[in-house]
Amino acid sequence: MAIQIPSRQLFIDGEWRETVLKKRIPIINPATEEIVGDIPAATAEDVEIAVDAARRAFSRNGGKDWASTSGAFRAKFLRAIASTVLERKSELALLELVDTGKPLVETASDMDGVASCFNYYAELAEALDAKQKAPISIPVQSFKSYVLKEPIGVIALITPWNYPLLMAAWKIAPALAAGCTAILKPSELASVTCLELAEICRQVDIPPGVLNIVTGLGSEAGAPLASHPHVDKIAFTGSTATGIKVMTAAAQTVKPISLELGGKSPIIVFEDGDLNNAAEWTIYSCFKTNGQICSATSRLIVHESIAADFLVKLIDWSKNIKISDPLEDGCRLGAIISKGQYEKVMNFISTAKNEGATILYGGGHPQHLRKGFFIEPTIITDVSTSMQIWREEVFGPVLCVKTFSTEHEAIALANDTDYGLGAAVISKDLERCERLTKALQAGTVWINCSQPCFDQTAWGGNKRSGIGRELGEWGLDSYLSIKQVTHYISNEPWGWYSPPQSSEELERSQKQN
Ligand code: NDP
Repeated sequence: MAIQIPSRQLFIDGEWRETVLKKRIPIINPATEEIVGDIPAATAEDVEIAVDAARRAFSRNGGKDWASTSGAFRAKFLRAIASTVLERKSELALLELVDTGKPLVETASDMDGVASCFNYYAELAEALDAKQKAPISIPVQSFKSYVLKEPIGVIALITPWNYPLLMAAWKIAPALAAGCTAILKPSELASVTCLELAEICRQVDIPPGVLNIVTGLGSEAGAPLASHPHVDKIAFTGSTATGIKVMTAAAQTVKPISLELGGKSPIIVFEDGDLNNAAEWTIYSCFKTNGQICSATSRLIVHESIAADFLVKLIDWSKNIKISDPLEDGCRLGAIISKGQYEKVMNFISTAKNEGATILYGGGHPQHLRKGFFIEPTIITDVSTSMQIWREEVFGPVLCVKTFSTEHEAIALANDTDYGLGAAVISKDLERCERLTKALQAGTVWINCSQPCFDQTAWGGNKRSGIGRELGEWGLDSYLSIKQVTHYISNEPWGWYSPPQSSEELERSQKQN
């Protein structure tokens, strides 16, 4: 099936706009290695125009601006975006498939996630109106205080390639719900559906400049956006290395940031767990999206008494995963996003081998697929905690395994990482699960599952996995600034100083002296 990728420009101030330098970047289908289209390559000049448009939309002198609209007004646009995404779901899912190499079952479910995120934040935008001027109880009668929740301003949204439209939605929906205006810079490796979102914004007549979409390289478009003095906040999802650069850029003008970064998350399987379910969750959480998930539980910590049997189960489940062109029915493992990422993952596997680990299953390019950046689901054992494969984020379908004998040892292994995004525990003993939930250093703990994520819950990491939380009410709050208003309501003078004397009083007192 030939999928036609629309040729788009940058989306700035409600219009398509060619890049100043007229540069474009090819789109490569990771499953076929063919060039299937191109996207605009913005540079600092384009970023300047986009930031200016977002600034004007945020606060127009004398005119109606997005920041001063009601939440209910903004909610209508968010709902319109959600329903247009659903109307175009099959087309968008195919476009994202060609752009990323992900199986159709995944990209289709991602589009549902995009729509539900916009609908969810439409509800929160409406609810925000009623939360304004919430009184604060203070211990004095002569004052009253309340709080206004105001949009922070113009936001730079910088997103990765693994869930291109979904990661963008997690930022755009709450930012717009809060009354902020934004410039989205998606990854140059996967911008196609984000540009379609621009077309959807045109269709639903979102006011010009409220959302601007600027595609291009991280170094040429992302960096000038992150350091722009007229951007009020940066919301970034990507690697920890780039997150550090973004944080450094933000520090120059003291911009608030939220960072959703990398991970090396553990899944702990106890001997009393349901081993079939545990095996399915273990491979789902490491091989779904080809392991290109920030929270992939890619370090399996399994009780020594069941380790041998459990590994046999994992191999059986892995053999059953259909690796194919993502368009084929039943495909569950597509292609890695790019040649560069493919080589990076292969290097991780060969380094593990060189360091003395055993490739128990997979580890290569599937023999039945000649073209495309495909990698077999891979299970690595005989791993030590100092090995690269145990410590660094692979962002590919690679699971590494260690055993434990005591609960204490399992927790220590799980927490021995610079990251702190997710962690999973598989056990029927719910008291034990509760103990581990408290002990694990992670933004999310899954019990008897791994990876499910809902709009209403909080998402984010500890340690080097990031700063702040997305989704839920926390996601909206991260685009709001709190203004406290304090009102003196007494008719009595404040009385701190003696009041100045009138000229007659002054004269009288001078005469007396
Ligand atoms: P990168 O850090 O390479 O890129 C993320 C975004 O930043 C891209 O849009 C990129 O543009 C841009 N960028 C690159 N350099 C700069 C710069 N100097 N200034 C501003 N922006 C820049 O991450 P990937 O796209 O490779 O995504 C994978 C990473 O994302 C993994 O580490 C993963 O763990 C993390 N991630 C975290 C999630 C979370 O919720 N915690 C969720 C999803 C992914 P370009 O691609 O064009 O270079």
